[in-house]
Order: sequence, then structure tokens, then C-alpha cells
Amino acid sequence: MKSSIYTYPWDLADEGLDAALDNIQHVAGLDDVALATSYHTATYFLPHNPKRKLYYGEDGMTLFQADPARYESTAIRPRVSEVVDSPDYLQRQAERIRERGLSLTAWIVYAYDHYLARTYPDLAQQDALGNRHLSHLCVGAPDVRQYFLTLTEDILERLNPDAVHLESLNFLPFGHGFSNPKVLTPITPWCSFLMGLCMCDHCIEVASADGLDGEALRSDVARYLNAELPKLPSQAEAVQQVTPTRLAAAFGGQLRAFLEVRSGIASSLFEDVVRTIRSHGDIAVQADHLDQDDELALGLSVERVAPLIDRSVTGPNPEEIKPMKRRLTTGAKMIVQVSPSAFGSSNALSDTLTACIRGGAGGFAFYNYGLMRVDHLRWLGQAKGLWKE
Ligand SMILES: [Zn+2]
Repeated sequence: MKSSIYTYPWDLADEGLDAALDNIQHVAGLDDVALATSYHTATYFLPHNPKRKLYYGEDGMTLFQADPARYESTAIRPRVSEVVDSPDYLQRQAERIRERGLSLTAWIVYAYDHYLARTYPDLAQQDALGNRHLSHLCVGAPDVRQYFLTLTEDILERLNPDAVHLESLNFLPFGHGFSNPKVLTPITPWCSFLMGLCMCDHCIEVASADGLDGEALRSDVARYLNAELPKLPSQAEAVQQVTPTRLAAAFGGQLRAFLEVRSGIASSLFEDVVRTIRSHGDIAVQADHLDQDDELALGLSVERVAPLIDRSVTGPNPEEIKPMKRRLTTGAKMIVQVSPSAFGSSNALSDTLTACIRGGAGGFAFYNYGLMRVDHLRWLGQAKGLWKE
């Protein structure tokens, strides 16, 4: 059974590569490192990092020395992280991981990138009212699609990973990536949903090419939001969730049709990226949020995308593992993501891991090497019999 740990390269570098990998391999007893290769904004408390206990991270970066010449087929140029101090920074880590007999998962964050969205606002998601959402790129924009394919190629060639973990290779919902949000009066679930739909020129163009009147829908949604957002929501609207019935009826059926188009946009990119990965050999594909509940918010069609993945990541809820596996219907392994630091004791952690295995877990991915204390790594070591059997 796979036992992986999400890891930031700066934690390996700051601690010393072999010392950190000793912790992962021998103290925690794990067999895979999911190494971040491109990442999003965050502020980190790093309890066992000898050089930075607190790290105000960058707001979007690659964790390897990307060569700008490689990206000439897209308008987007990646920003290399400040922590990358040599041309082979990440390759050296990847090689050492593999030399030690650990497997390597390349953890790639795609659309969620404040830096790129702010640097290329024309390529950021845009709602019907024309607001750019400056925390994520639109997966319908041709430059973004090309950038993601090139980024994937670049990472595969550099790191030669055993698996790839795909994160945010999809649309992102309203509010995702707000920093210090000042949203003090409620926005109804329905209006939030509409505000989260990218209706940028690229997305509208695809819809129009598919036979919809994309411009008319965008105007209708804008008119509706302009009328609704200033008003205090009724009690009924405040709690009413987005339902299939409401979707089918909204905007004369045009919204439902647009959602189909949007699903095609996101799912076809996912397919293209997976095709790129497969062309590099026998590499496992892992993705999270592959649940029908997320389908509307992210735009991915579970039906199209699920057959392409080998592993789906889910939370540590033993009762939900098998039902989710059945919904995927493709035999993908369910990898349970667990934060050991969320548990009060080694026994509490072991009990949950045991229950997850009984519930159908096909592996674990622990979150996250730099963010947990060494005690938590020891707890994993005490539990390692669960995945080493
Ligand atoms: Zn768009």
C-alpha cells in the first residue's frame, strides 16, 4: 500500500536532503515523496525547519529553474521561486529521493496562481460582470492551456517521476483564493455560483462556437447579478442550494447548456495533460476533488476524467471511501489524505488509519512534511505496520 508525504522542497533543502529523507523513510516509515513543483500562495509555520520557522511564501511560482525559451509557444512565463538556488535544485532532490529507493510523485499546482493571474489578467477567470478573479487562470484560454501542457512536459522531463498529482487543473469557484476577505454581508449560494462561472471572452467564444448565444447569456447573467447583489437576500434564497432543477430552468435553459460547454473546456484540458503524462511512460495519475459534488464548481466531468486516473485523493472519513470509489466506477485506488497534526495522540491517528483501511483505503498521503512536528512523524512510524504489511 502506497504511503506518501506531501513535501515542500525548501524543507528538504533547509534541513539537509539526507536528514529530511531519513525522517521520511526511517522515522515515519513512508515510501513516497510527493514533491511540490509549482505552487500557490500560503504562509507557513514550519516547526522543525532549522532556517525558517515562519515563511511568508510567494504567491505563485515554479520550484525549479524553468527555462523561459521552453515557454515560447505561450504568452505565459513562469516565475522561478526565490528558494531555487541552483539550476538543478529540484532535480537533485528528485534524484536523491529515487536513489534511496523512495518513489517520487510530482505534485503540480496549475490554475490556482495569484502571481500569474495578476501578471496576465487577460488570462484570469472573469465573471459575467467583467470582474477578473485574480487568483486563478482560466482553463479555457488557449495560452493557459498551452502553458499547462508545457509546464507538465518540463516537470516530467526534469524529474522523471513515478506519479503525478494534479491539483487545480480545472475552473475554481467563487471566493477561492480571496485574501483577507471583506465579505460581510451574505451572498446567496445561487449568486455565488453564478459569480464563480468564468464568462471570459474565451469561454463565451467556445460556447458560441457550440451553438449557444454566449453573449446573450453573459448579458442575462450580468443583468440578474446587478439586480440581485445589492439586495438583502430573502430567507429562502439565503439557504437554497444550487439544484439540478433550478439549473435546468435558469436563463431559459441556456445556463445548463453553458455548463456542458464549460465541462468540455475543463475536461478536454485534463485529458490533454494526462495524454502528455502517459506519453512519458508508465506514470501514475493522481487527482483530488474527483467527486460529483465538485463537478459544478470545478467544471470537470467525472464521467470523462475518472477513467484517466489511477488514484483519487479523498479525506479521512472511513464511511465515505467506498461510496466514492463506487461513484468513480473505474477501479482507481482511493488515497486517503491525512494530517497527523489534526490528531491528539498516536493512538487516535492509528485508529483512524485502521478504520480507513477497513473502509477501503488503497493508500495514504500525509500532509505535510514541513507542517507537522517530528512527534507526528514518529506517530506515523508507530503506525507503519498498517501500510507495510
Ligand atoms: Zn474563461
